[in-house]
Amino acid sequence: TTVANHLPTTELQAIDAAHHMHPFTTGKEINENGARIITSAKGVWLKDSEGQEILDGMAGLWCVNIGYGRPEIADVAARQMRELPFYNTFFQTSHVPALMLAKKLAELAPGDLNHVFFANGGSDANDTNIRMVRTYWAEKDQPERDVIISRWNGYHGSTIGGASLGGMKGMHAQGGLPIPGIEFIDEPNWWAEGGDQTPEEFGLARARQLEEKIKEIGPEKVAAFIGEPIQGAGGVIIPPATYWPEIQRICDKYGILLIADEVICGFGRTGNWFGSQTMGIKPDIMTVAKGLSAGYVPIGASIVSDEIAKVIGDTEFNHGYTYSGHPVACAVALENLRILEEENVLEHVRNVAGPHLKKRWEELAEHPLVGEARVEGLMGSIALTPDKATRAPFAADAGTVGYICRERCFANNIVMRHVGDRMVIAPPLVITCEEIDIFVDRARKSLDECL
Ligand code: PLP
Repeated sequence: TTVANHLPTTELQAIDAAHHMHPFTTGKEINENGARIITSAKGVWLKDSEGQEILDGMAGLWCVNIGYGRPEIADVAARQMRELPFYNTFFQTSHVPALMLAKKLAELAPGDLNHVFFANGGSDANDTNIRMVRTYWAEKDQPERDVIISRWNGYHGSTIGGASLGGMKGMHAQGGLPIPGIEFIDEPNWWAEGGDQTPEEFGLARARQLEEKIKEIGPEKVAAFIGEPIQGAGGVIIPPATYWPEIQRICDKYGILLIADEVICGFGRTGNWFGSQTMGIKPDIMTVAKGLSAGYVPIGASIVSDEIAKVIGDTEFNHGYTYSGHPVACAVALENLRILEEENVLEHVRNVAGPHLKKRWEELAEHPLVGEARVEGLMGSIALTPDKATRAPFAADAGTVGYICRERCFANNIVMRHVGDRMVIAPPLVITCEEIDIFVDRARKSLDECL
């Protein structure tokens, strides 16, 4: 317990409001309501400065997959800090945690994704990807191949590069984004935009927008396509089954690199090591972060194919972060991966917690405010609507109902996030069936309070 934990909540909130700038939050929200101050956590339960216990349905920010408070991780971090707290991996130096984690990721990643370039999180790993794919094509004497195609409502981070790749219009509006050479197609959100089409027809139609976009730009100018196997921050949009195989076919046809942003889907979230496996695709690059260290320390990476690593390795890639492959982060990630394997966490997602969440979550579709309720592995969403038949959004301000629902959830001591009028869940992967029941019961109560 830190000294600050002993200050009264109102005092902590006043300090927070006076000095701490929060991501994706207005100063008004912080000033009027004060932040809820989280002081400790164990398993799936957070504790706040008032001693309330809150069931964390978001695993922090989609990352604390092995649950909070694992002493093994703390021990490994402390040991590594004593032995070698830092050394870089630039200029022909290496260290054991980085090389062992790279080896482990090469083993876990599908196909010939055998090479790892480390970053600090998902955003800067995607920055690496932008520079890497453009450098790859330049080295292959095709420097004009520099356009990257992405999707509206995709999320790839908050750096200039990551937010440019992302299709969040509210982010593009701030800071002069996107950077040149990023193009967008529509997202595969069947429930909201599918109209009369079956999910299968709609999935194919949305994937074929990629081919139309490639033809419009000129295939010789397109470097890569990037997408999350399942969009997370966009509202957990699970694409129709026809979508990803068609995207793969189109990328193969035009020789375009496929980047799977696995920052949320990676490391068991969908019941396989990677969402690419769940969706049946073979990316050339995977972006990973979050679940790589279960959020205990910051780390991200690009895992790339033999071919890309060879071409990039033949030149000097003028890119890297001081903390690329930070020894403490790598040691923690290795311990996290050991826990995931030895405790059979993926089997738990596939066979126990995932099916139980699906059953309980889909019951919420009966609620008068809920249009769609879907789950894949341990990520799910519900779409809120005033009219299930027309699937209409809430008229005046689609974000408001979701916001109120999130507030009701918080008051009922569960964390469920809202994205516009979608509510999303991505709990720690170690959540039990009993905890899922508590969560869904409280979620239903919160929805009732929004009626
Ligand atoms: N990519 C995806 C798919 C994400 O969900 C996120 C974060 O939510 C990022 C990238 C950005 O990662 P970070 O916040 O670690 O920079």
